[in-house]
Amino acid sequence: RYANAVALVRAQCAPDELLARLKALERAFGRKRGGQRWGVRVLDLDIVLWEQGSWASPGLIVPHSAFRERVFVLAPAAAIAPAWRDPVTGFTLRQLQARLTRPRPLPR
Ligand code: AMP
Repeated sequence: RYANAVALVRAQCAPDELLARLKALERAFGRKRGGQRWGVRVLDLDIVLWEQGSWASPGLIVPHSAFRERVFVLAPAAAIAPAWRDPVTGFTLRQLQARLTRPRPLPR
C-alpha cells in the first residue's frame, strides 16, 4: 500500500544538489525503522520536471525518463500545472495525459 503525491518545489540549488537532499531525506526516513532493510521503500522522491528545462548529469536525468508513461505521476502533475511544457516532446502535461488515456505513440 502506498501514497503518491506530486508537489511544486521552489529550490535555490541546482537539480543535482536537490537530488542529493532528496536522497538524504529518503535515508532519514529509512533510519526511522531501526536500520532495518525493507523490501518496499519507505520513501521514494524523484525530480520529475525542472522549470529551466532539461538536466543531465551522472545519476540524474530531468525530465524523469518514465514520467510520460506513468498515470500516477502525470495525472497529479497535470492537475497542478496543465500548461507546463515537457522540454523533450514539446507537449504540455495536459496533452501528455490525454495521450496516456487515449494511447498514441510519441513521435521520436
Ligand atoms: P529509483 O529508485 O527508481 O527512484 O531510482 C533512483 C536513482 O535514479 C537515483 O539514485 C538517481 O541517481 C537516479 N535518477 C535519475 N534521474 C532521476 C530523477 N529525475 N529523479 C530521481 N532520481 C533519478
